[in-house]
Amino acid sequence: MRIPIIAGNWKMHNTIDDAVALVKELKGEVAKTDVKVVLCCPFTVLGEVKKALEGSNIALGAQNMHWEDYGAYTGETSADMLKDHGVDYVIIGHSERRQYFNETDETVNKKVKKALEKGLIPILCVGETLEERESEKTYEIVKNQTLKALENIEKSQVEKIVLAYEPIWAIGTGKTASPEDANAVISYIREVLKEKYGEETSEIIPIQYGGSVKAANATEIMNQEDIDGALVGGASLKAEEFLAIVNF
Ligand code: PEP
Repeated sequence: MRIPIIAGNWKMHNTIDDAVALVKELKGEVAKTDVKVVLCCPFTVLGEVKKALEGSNIALGAQNMHWEDYGAYTGETSADMLKDHGVDYVIIGHSERRQYFNETDETVNKKVKKALEKGLIPILCVGETLEERESEKTYEIVKNQTLKALENIEKSQVEKIVLAYEPIWAIGTGKTASPEDANAVISYIREVLKEKYGEETSEIIPIQYGGSVKAANATEIMNQEDIDGALVGGASLKAEEFLAIVNF
């Protein structure tokens, strides 16, 4: 049985005061749930959020990292630097990074490898554009992105990752894939994992759905057989809305 993982992706939102106030509102309520909750915060608030999370069952995540250990990479952050702040999870290959910051399948693969080597849990994002969906390339795209991201990653390592299927046209747009459709793509991704790593391993890896998940659609999405939780953007910024998703 895979435990659902609900991860909030705060994107470029929340100063320290905002972040700490939000954590205070979430902490007590999340303590009552059995799902795994992760908050993926901007780098600037990681330290304070970690302190505010003390004694809580909420895990800390980041939204990106570099694949090198250190070096002349102005503006970048390494896995060890994330670990300094008590980070356990890191989003890798989010479509906004692929779209605006030239993230490629190759850099995604390097980042996933480094995260695993350093003991961080990658939340690996894959998903198609609207154009790709309309030309019926969804399955081909998610297969390619998944396999390229996992190139040269061993079975024992891959069992630690979390995958997120995020159709790009559904992110921040208010549009969602129909729950059945999202479930079908996710079960296909599991087939791809099964082909590469075998059934046992493919059954271990949680696969989330992401794309305009909110309180109003969370139950329907999360009740799908193959969907193991959600990666939540906009709706993770308000405690009441996020808690309603966590309590789907
Ligand atoms: C995301 O940031 O991964 C996301 C799915 O955003 P939203 O929920 O706002 O669509």
